Amino acid sequence: MSGSVILVTGGSGLVGKAINEIVLEEKSKGNKEYENENWIFLSSKDGDLRERTATEAIFDKHQPTHVIHLAAMVGGLFHNMEHNLDFFRENMAINDNVLNASHKYDVKKVVSCLSTCIFPDKTTYPIDESMVHNGPPHSSNYGYSYAKRMIDVLNRGYWQQHGRRFTSVVPCNVFGPHDNFSSTAHVLPALVRRMHAAMQSGESEFVVWGSGKPLRQFIYSRDLARLFVWVLRHYDSVDPLILSVDESDEVSISQAAEAIAAAFDFQGKIVYDTTRADGQYKKTASNKKLRELCPEFTFTPFTTAVKETVEWFKVNHESARL
Ligand code: NAP
Ligand code: GDP
Repeated sequence: MSGSVILVTGGSGLVGKAINEIVLEEKSKGNKEYENENWIFLSSKDGDLRERTATEAIFDKHQPTHVIHLAAMVGGLFHNMEHNLDFFRENMAINDNVLNASHKYDVKKVVSCLSTCIFPDKTTYPIDESMVHNGPPHSSNYGYSYAKRMIDVLNRGYWQQHGRRFTSVVPCNVFGPHDNFSSTAHVLPALVRRMHAAMQSGESEFVVWGSGKPLRQFIYSRDLARLFVWVLRHYDSVDPLILSVDESDEVSISQAAEAIAAAFDFQGKIVYDTTRADGQYKKTASNKKLRELCPEFTFTPFTTAVKETVEWFKVNHESARL
C-alpha cells in the first residue's frame, strides 16, 4: 500500500490509539509494509462527523485512499439503556457521512466497525457473520445495534451500485489502555476504575453490578489493532468478518472481576448488586472465518491483557478518560 493515505476516524479512542501505537511500533522497526504510508488519526476536534460539511472538509483536506472508520457514540450497557435514541441518531449520521464522503472522494477501501452485541438476542450459538440481520437485537441497546447493522446495508449498497469495496469487522468486547473509564464505560474499564478507587480508600468489599453470570468474549485492543491492519491489507470481501477470541476463551463477568482483583492484588470480598441489569446473557461468537483466513494469529492471554491494562491505569489514571 505504498503511497496510501490511511484516515482513521475515532483515532483518539480505545481502538484508534491501539492502532496508532502498532503503526508507530512497526514503522520504528522498519517494517517495509508501512513504508511510504501516511496514517492520519482523527479525533472529534478535527471535525464533528455528525455534520456532512465537516466530514467532507476532512476528506477534502486529507484526500484519503483508505479509511478505518471507528468513530461512534460508544458506551456500556447502562449508558445504552438510557440513550437508545441518541445512539441510533448519532451513529446513523456519522456512518452515513463517512461512507458517503468515502464514495465522493474515491476511497479505495473502507473498514468500518460493527460489534458482537448487535446480533439477534434470540439466536443459536455460536453466532456467525451470516446472522447480522436475523432478528431483533437485545432491547437494552437496540439504538446502537440497528445503527451498526445499517453499516452493512450501506456497504452492500455501495458495492452493488458503485462497485465500492467498503467492508466491516465485528469485534467482541474490547478493552485496554486509553479506554473510556468514565461512568458511561463498558464493564472492564468501569471495574478497573472502581477497583482502583477501592484500593486507594482501603475498602474491604467490592461491588460488581448485576449477577456476575453473563458471559463475554473480551479482545485486547492491541490484538484488535493488529487484526484491523491485517483486514485493511488482506481482506477483500464486503461481507462482515468477526474479530473475536475463541469461544473457549469466553469468561463470566465474575471471572473478569476476579482477574481485575488479582491484577490489583485486592484481598477483599467481591459482592454482586443484583438490583442492577445483567443485559444480554451471552453473545458467543465464532471466529472460524478469521481462523481460516489468518491461522497464524495469536491472542494475548486474557489475564496478561488485564494486568497490562491495570498497570497502564495505575500510571495514567490522572490523564485517563474518567
Ligand atoms: P471510544 O474509545 O469511545 O472512542 C470513540 C472515538 O470516536 C473517539 O476517537 C471520539 O473522538 C470519536 N468520535 C465520537 N463521536 C464523534 C463525532 N461526532 N465526530 C468525530 N469523532 C467522534 O470507542 P472505541 O471503544 O475505541 O470504539 C471504536 C469502534 O469500535 C466503535 O465503532 C465501536 O462501536 C466499536 N466497538 C467497540 C467495542 C468496545 O468494547 N469498546 C466493542 C465492539 C465494537 P474524541 O476522542 O475526540 O471524543
Ligand atoms: P455489553 O457487553 O454490551 O452488555 O456491555 P458492558 O461492557 O457494559 O457489560 C455489561 C455486563 O457487565 C452486564 O452483565 C453488567 O451487569 C455487567 N457489569 C458489572 N459491573 C458493571 C459496571 O460497572 N459497568 C458496566 N457497564 N457493566 C457492568
